[in-house]
This record gives sequence, structure tokens and C-alpha cells, in this order.
Amino acid sequence: MNTLPTYQQSRWSLAELFASAEPSEMQQAFSSLEQKVAQFETIRPALTETVSSADFMQFVRQLEETNIEAGRLYGFVNLQFSEDTQNQAAQSLLARVQQLFAELTNRTLFFSLWWKDLPDTAAERLMAVAGDYCYWLEEMRHFKPHTLSEAEEKIINLKDVTGASALSLLYDSLTNRYTFKLEVEGETKELTRDALMVYARHVNPDLRAAAYQELYRVYGNDGPILGQIYQALVRDWRNEQVGLRKFASPISARNLANDLPDRVVDTLLEICQKNRPVFARFFKLKARWLGMPHLRRYDIYAPVAAADKQYTFAQSAGMVFDSFAHFDPLFAELAERVFKANHLDSQVRKGKRGGAFCSTPVHDLTPWVLLNFQGKPSDVATMAHELGHAIHSQLASKHTAFTAHASLPLAETASTFAEMMLVDRLLAEETDAAVRRDLLFRQVDDAYATIQRQAYFALFERQAHEMADNGASVDELSETYLQTLKEQFGDAVEVGEEFHWEWVSIPHIYEVPFYVYAYAFGQLLVLSLYQQYKVEGEAFKARYVKILSTGGSQAPVKLLAEAGIDITPAEFWQGGFDVIGSLVDKLEKDFMVY
Ligand SMILES: [Zn+2]
Repeated sequence: MNTLPTYQQSRWSLAELFASAEPSEMQQAFSSLEQKVAQFETIRPALTETVSSADFMQFVRQLEETNIEAGRLYGFVNLQFSEDTQNQAAQSLLARVQQLFAELTNRTLFFSLWWKDLPDTAAERLMAVAGDYCYWLEEMRHFKPHTLSEAEEKIINLKDVTGASALSLLYDSLTNRYTFKLEVEGETKELTRDALMVYARHVNPDLRAAAYQELYRVYGNDGPILGQIYQALVRDWRNEQVGLRKFASPISARNLANDLPDRVVDTLLEICQKNRPVFARFFKLKARWLGMPHLRRYDIYAPVAAADKQYTFAQSAGMVFDSFAHFDPLFAELAERVFKANHLDSQVRKGKRGGAFCSTPVHDLTPWVLLNFQGKPSDVATMAHELGHAIHSQLASKHTAFTAHASLPLAETASTFAEMMLVDRLLAEETDAAVRRDLLFRQVDDAYATIQRQAYFALFERQAHEMADNGASVDELSETYLQTLKEQFGDAVEVGEEFHWEWVSIPHIYEVPFYVYAYAFGQLLVLSLYQQYKVEGEAFKARYVKILSTGGSQAPVKLLAEAGIDITPAEFWQGGFDVIGSLVDKLEKDFMVY
């Protein structure tokens, strides 16, 4: 292996986007964007059924240029805000950009409306010469039956800024202020949610219980208000998507945006529901390892071994690069580019956004990655995860700005796959039985959290959207939520009453209805892909690289079909669960010989 420089934790540099946030520089960016939009508005009379393909392509490129510039600006202010969410200047800049974007979107709206309204023959003539823009153009036309008049679309966009989006921001503002109190070894700590939930994985069962009880005490205090916000958002979604846009059901609107047929999503959710026993078996096994008669909901992420390894930042980077290089040296090289470009913010600082993400504001620039690295094994996994996203986006960067980004159901492919590469590498090198067991248990813990838990959120959303339409109260929604938990866990896990507030603590169901099933989709897909990799070895790699390199330039069903994967039958999704099932088998055997 080549020698790696020793990486240190640092802030990132945003210089590739803008040299600074100086008012003069920002003002110039605003004016330049404004100018581009004004120019684009002049093409309006030229948009006719007989527009020449040369002119059409020029307009498309013009719109793309405008989008790239907008992405650069938004990316910059958003990343700057993530660095320090308490920075007032960054906050107001972000708000200003959001308002500006709603206005600019409205001024360029005429293009997509014209395009969707064009007769098939004219659209086909233009798509035939559109090259890599083709799928983007085709996707837009899927929405033709659900599109309103220009005036109506403009009203919705403008009213959303102060309506649904504002409600969603209000939810964020309310919940981001929460602090949680937890008594640890005789000392009362005041914690953020991220810091509190570290105790969900603590070895001490009382601390685990106390952490969850405190979480839902705080959310429960505001439960009726948070629930009310949810009801309003859900009604807004139905009024718009079903009432005005005539989607068959609330979830159908999300499915079309993901370009997935309704029946594929229905099958996915059915199979998740059907496979409850796989995780039930895992939870019962976990109870035995922990020496508990029964697992409580507080214990599902409990560690089975008290193996508290710490890794330095340089060690972690080395392990991640090494596991990528083992798969393909190109993967390690692409991951390392993020470090070399200084696009990684890994420090833990007050006011910095929690969690982790990878962002590619301009499709052909090296992505930016945010981590809050503290040296825990899960931090190493997160590093692999986010760098997986960065690899995906670099492999797809040759596409247009409209077709580079993978659609939601495929967006977690490279990241989840990267985590599996890391775990495999660690297992291959680890000789300590307790650490190995811990790694395997964590793998199933994570599979539970990304597949079953998220699928059940989506199942709850489906019910909640119906119930809210029929005037259900917040208490009735809470009761229904508790029922879905009881169905999910059966007799394997005991669920405390306070968990009826869990749904008001899930930002995704507020911000992006039905977003969550994409996690289950992605993880089950990757389990199947990884299985193929193990069987086929080298032969698999080219196919995998092709899936990633396609980015968002093809429909997910088609893209996967070309890679030999048919996601339409139930058996495909079952295959993913079978992989988890065999992991649980392995752990059960392990317990017998222990
Ligand atoms: Zn991810």
C-alpha cells in the first residue's frame, strides 16, 4: 500500500465556491444570478412547438448554467451555516437566499410548464437530440397530469415559503432548542439530543432507560403542539397532492418524484412487514447475550460486548482508505480527494451542525463532507458512509447538473456499500472474539434501524395521512403510533408507554413526507448487491461502478435492470432479508458455542 499522509482533524475550506462571505462578494453573486434569470426570461416567446433543436438545447444549457450558479450560492451559504448554526450573519444570509430562490424559481417556471404541456411528437423530436439531458426532460413530463396553471403554481411556491416550509422551520426551531437532563454517576448533565442518545448504546441498562424516558419527557411536554404542526403539514400535503394535483394517494406523489411505480413501493413495505420475525429473533438473541429475561425497547441498541475501542482520526482515515482500496484503488483515490481538497470539516465545535453529511452543491466539484469525529467505532463507520457518498458523486460528475445526482432511492447505495466494505475489512483483521461479535451485532442493529424502523415510519405515515384527513386528534395519532410499534416488535420487545411520542420526534416525516422508505429501499438493495459481490468477486465490480456512474441519468428501475437486477418481484426484497437472516443464524450458532 502507498504511504498516506497523516491527516489531522480540521475545518473545511469553502474557497472553491466563494472566496469569502464579504457583502460585496455576495451582492455580486446575487446580481449575477439575477442577470442570468432576466436573460432566461427573454427566451419565452421562442418556446413554441416548432422551436429548432439547436435553440432548444441552447435554452436548456442556459437554464443549467443558472442552476449551477444558484447551487453554488446556496451551497456556500448552507455549508457556512452548518459550520456554525449560531452565526447570525450566516442565518440571515440563508433566509435571504431561500426567499430569492422562491422568486427565481417562479420566474423560470414557464419553461417546465411549457415543456410538460408540449405534445408528445414535439417532445420526442427534442428529446432525441437531448443526449444526457434526456432523462431529466422525460421525468418532468411524468408530472404533466399533476401540474396546475402557471398562476396557480406560482401561488403555491410563494405561499409555501411562509406556509408549509415555515411550519417545518418552526418545528426545527422548537425542537433544536431542546436540552435534556440526565444523571450520570451522580452528576446531572445537560445534553443535546445527539449527546443524550449516545446513552442509548450505554452498557448500563438504567442509563439506557433514563435516556429514552428523558427524550420523550421533553418531546412529550410539547407533544400536543408538535402533533398539531404535523396535522397541519399532513393536511397541506393532501390538499395539494391529492386535492389539487390529483395524485391517487399521498404516498404516490413521493413515489413519482422517486420515479418508482406505486406497486414496487407497496411490495417493499409488505415484505418489510412480513419479515418482522427476522428481527424478533435477533432481539430475543440479544436479550440472551445481555442476560435479560426480556429485551425492552430501551435495550435494542445495547452493546453485547463492552469493547470500547477508540481510534485516532489518522487511524480511521487509514482504515477507511484501506478498505476502499481493497475493493478498488480508484475508490480510495476518490475518497482521499475530499481530504486533499480540504473539503472535510471533522472537528467537534459548539454551534456546528450535529451528525454528518456529504454535499455536492456543484456537480463537478469535489464534494464537501461534514463529520463530528470523536473516535468511536461508529465515527469510523460514519466516515466510510459519507466518503461513500463522495465517491458516488464524483463517479457521476460527468453528467449534466440535472442528471448527475442519483435519485433518492439510489442515493444511499454507495454509502451503505462503503460501510459494508469497512466492516468486512475489520472482521477480516480482528482476532478478538468480543470485538468481532460487537461488529456483527452492530451490523444487524444498523440494518434494523435503516430497514425495519424506517419502513414502519412509512407505514405509520400512510395511516396518519388518512387519519388526519378524517379529523383524528393528536392523541389518536399517538395511540396508532404505539400500535404500529407493538405490531413491529411483537412479543420480542417490551415497549414503554412513553414511546407513543416517538413520531413527534422524527424530523423526516415533517419535512419530507414518505422520505423514509428510501432508506429501507437502499439498504435492502445494497445487501443484495453485496451478496452478488461476494459470489462474483471481480466480475461484479464493473457493474457496480456502472450503477454509481449513471448518477441520476436514468430511471432507477431501468438502471438496475441493466445491471441485471429486477426490483419488481417480492423475491428481490426477500433476498435482502435472507442476508440478515443468515447473519442472525451465525450469531445464534455463536451463542451456542459460547
Ligand atoms: Zn447517507
